[in-house]
Amino acid sequence: MTVICWFRRVLRLDDHPALVAAAAQGAVVPLVILNPDEARRHPASAQRQAMSLPLLDAALRRRGSRLILRRGRPAEVLEEIARQTGATAIHASEGFPFAADTGLAEAARRGGATLHLHPLADLVPRASVLTGTGGVYKVFSPFWKALRRTQVAEPLAAPALSAPDAWPDSDGLDWPEARAEINRGWEVMAHCIRAGEDQAHARLDEFLDGPLPDYKVHRDHPWRPRATSGLADALAVGEISARRIWARCQPALRDGRPGVEHFLSELAWREFARDLLYAFPDLPHSCWRPEWQEFPWRPDTPEAEAWRRGQTGVAMVDAGMREMFATGQMHNRVRMITASYLCKHLLTDWKVGVDWFAYCLTDWDAASNAMNWQWVAGCGPDASPYFRVFNPDGQGDRFDPKGRYRDHWMAQDGAGAQAFAQAAPRSWRIDLARPVTPSLTLAEGRDRALAAYRGFRS
Ligand SMILES: Cc1cc2nc3c(=O)[nH]c(=O)nc-3n(C[C@H](O)[C@H](O)[C@H](O)COP(=O)(O)OP(=O)(O)OC[C@H]3O[C@@H](n4cnc5c(N)ncnc54)[C@H](O)[C@@H]3O)c2cc1C
Repeated sequence: MTVICWFRRVLRLDDHPALVAAAAQGAVVPLVILNPDEARRHPASAQRQAMSLPLLDAALRRRGSRLILRRGRPAEVLEEIARQTGATAIHASEGFPFAADTGLAEAARRGGATLHLHPLADLVPRASVLTGTGGVYKVFSPFWKALRRTQVAEPLAAPALSAPDAWPDSDGLDWPEARAEINRGWEVMAHCIRAGEDQAHARLDEFLDGPLPDYKVHRDHPWRPRATSGLADALAVGEISARRIWARCQPALRDGRPGVEHFLSELAWREFARDLLYAFPDLPHSCWRPEWQEFPWRPDTPEAEAWRRGQTGVAMVDAGMREMFATGQMHNRVRMITASYLCKHLLTDWKVGVDWFAYCLTDWDAASNAMNWQWVAGCGPDASPYFRVFNPDGQGDRFDPKGRYRDHWMAQDGAGAQAFAQAAPRSWRIDLARPVTPSLTLAEGRDRALAAYRGFRS
């Protein structure tokens, strides 16, 4: 019997519940669907997935299988491929964000197959770590305590695969539409990426054998290369599961090695974000605290456009925005600095930032992106208070005291600055030699933000 396994942002063989279920049922047709909506909204993340596809295909071929690639809207593709292959079942991970599952079961049925959705191999199934009153946690610390008391399931080994009698047609293993949507040279960004399941495992090993003991302190220093795991993009496209990372950390945890508890707590922030999105699917578009909808955010403005282009004239902010544009990544500390500057100094709606990060990041994740933006803006469940305004210069003094990160991205001859200038569209007229004057001083921005906040509270 032929069954389809839809690799849905789970681009791996290890710890893949849908694949294990499919392999137990029959000959497996491994399927990836390239959705044009995704390429348009999240081109860097889509292209990051595309880089993984040939490697996934090669891994499948080593097991006597292969990857089938189809372009189109998932419901249409599922119906068509079920009909073409005569498959009786389609196994896939549950959608993420979760609303994405609407209409899929009916489409599969029209093609003659039953759709089986399996939980993502996160640390815990969604909404299984609940408060005493049965709700999701709204504050991270008690969530983390409860998660630590929970048994995280063991990851699943990759199953043996049998091939169908005939393979359906496949599109080419590339996603040129995603590359075309990226408003900068993809080649500039591509060399920053280590794609594929094997590379994700290698990165985890390197991190556990190397920087882990100093993680708690060094993770805040944007100038230190490889002080963190660098696994966010691999997690986002599903090259490695959170459960596998958790399991690999257990020996270090038992040995009481420094850094590991803190590292796992950061991984737990990802779970926390997922529970919040599960409970509140509108997290990327609406303030968690409804009263914040009335806050006098400014809409998209020329100042916000300067922020996107790394042209605010505030060094740490511009450095971060340049890093993201040129590499598809941004250090966590700098994400907080740039986000705070947009929401507070520029008093701009946090959703402007959510959308730009979603467009640029190779590790874009609907839950983590939205939760962190709401955290910075002050409107999320476990948020930084609005009156706590990050000073980008002070943050630079503290976390980049010798200005190494800043100079890499801002100095005229900095390697990062050069890469950014090469990646930026000509219409941005980037001139590294021309200093930019900020539209307002840090003190003015801070005072304006606090005045708006006081007016909103009164
Ligand atoms: C405004 C803003 C937007 C963000 N958007 C995203 C996003 O779209 N996708 C994304 O994966 N992360 C996002 N983050 C969280 C964080 O910046 C990245 O996960 C981190 O930079 C990844 O680097 P790393 O893999 O080396 O992390 P490590 O420090 O090695 O941490 C290990 C893993 O823990 C998780 N993690 C760490 N910090 C956080 C956090 N604050 N929130 C949620 N999970 C976390 C990630 O999965 C990460 O890979 C955002 C943070 C901010 C402030």
